[in-house]
Amino acid sequence: MIDLKELKKEFENCKCGMTHTLNIKDICVGSGITSEVGEILRKNNFQKRLLLVADKTTLSVSEGILDSLKGFSVTKKIYPFIREATVSEVQVIKELLKDCDGIIGVGTGTIHDICRKSAAELDKPLCLFATAPSMDGFASYNAPLVDGNFKITYSAKSPEVIIADTKILAKAPPELKSAGFGDMIGKYVGLIDWQVSSEITGEYYCEKVANLTRKATDRIFALADRITKDDEESATEVFEALLLTGIGMSFTKTSRPASGTEHILSHFWECKKLLEGEISDFHGKKVGVATLLIMKEYQRLYNKKSIKAHKEIIDWDDVLNNYGELKDEVIKLNTPDTITDDISPEIIEQKWDRIREIISSVPTEKEIFKGMKTAGCATSYEEIGISEKLMKQGLKYHPYMRRRLSLYRLSNMID
Ligand SMILES: [Zn+2]
Ligand SMILES: [Zn+2]
Repeated sequence: MIDLKELKKEFENCKCGMTHTLNIKDICVGSGITSEVGEILRKNNFQKRLLLVADKTTLSVSEGILDSLKGFSVTKKIYPFIREATVSEVQVIKELLKDCDGIIGVGTGTIHDICRKSAAELDKPLCLFATAPSMDGFASYNAPLVDGNFKITYSAKSPEVIIADTKILAKAPPELKSAGFGDMIGKYVGLIDWQVSSEITGEYYCEKVANLTRKATDRIFALADRITKDDEESATEVFEALLLTGIGMSFTKTSRPASGTEHILSHFWECKKLLEGEISDFHGKKVGVATLLIMKEYQRLYNKKSIKAHKEIIDWDDVLNNYGELKDEVIKLNTPDTITDDISPEIIEQKWDRIREIISSVPTEKEIFKGMKTAGCATSYEEIGISEKLMKQGLKYHPYMRRRLSLYRLSNMID
């Protein structure tokens, strides 16, 4: 069980120099806890008028939640089906939230992201009730939202209260649990990218927060064979690990501790599919497949004992062509300069041994593949409805949609 008090204390006066604060006041994970939701909210000072956001499925699996809210005056927003968190949906929720004192989001990623952003903008208390261990954003500070066809990570707020009923988590569809595993396994790439960027650009890095992510990811990795089982104990373990990486993001107020270039690749695919009017597969499923593709490249880099580096040569016409309608966003992100402009080739050559050491600090692509297979994850782009063309396009062009250095982007500077 996560001891919030202990955790906050552990991160006080951190050597990295940042004050690690946490907005989360209460985490309640337990078997059959759904009937206590109202009580938990009251205990955490939620006032009478409550907005409940869910979809039909997440509300029906959370049996008893409405009964537990007796005494509250509940406004309900129940979607028939919702897969994309959009900026326009945030507007809808904000309108409803104006007349309420607080908000509870029942579900996972999509619903939670909409609630997180709405609650942040109106500065209202937020409770997230989790219905599946499918992704790691529960404790996070950020909300990735689709605006037009572009996916942007906005800063929002982490919830005051997080509740999960392990009975519901255990009964979640295996596909969603495997997606949670895929999302977690991506942290290995994230850890590499964060450290490499810090070595090369001096970007802020906190060893302690990185270790929190590493420990949580290792814990899940070791549970691969229990991921899809209908078993409350493993569901609890997975959920807590997912929470911890979200807490890491909240501590640093960036997504660095929990997402690297594999998340950007997944976003690229998602945006491209949106342009075609298609909704893509679950977040964690895509992130898992992206992780394997990226780790393959990192392995290849690791195998080079020494390297020669040069300035990055970018054919912007070609890049922008590949972004099509999204090109204005990409121009904005790379103006007046692009992230590699200030990086000297010499520093990459000098730090190469260190970079190889960083790559070797996580499991190999082969090990990750094996773990993902065991955990029932999708492991190929075909399984997540991505064509070979889109897969390759994503690999080549995704780094330009985020102003952030990854080892993958850096590899453009290596002979
Ligand atoms: Zn720190
Ligand atoms: Zn994720």
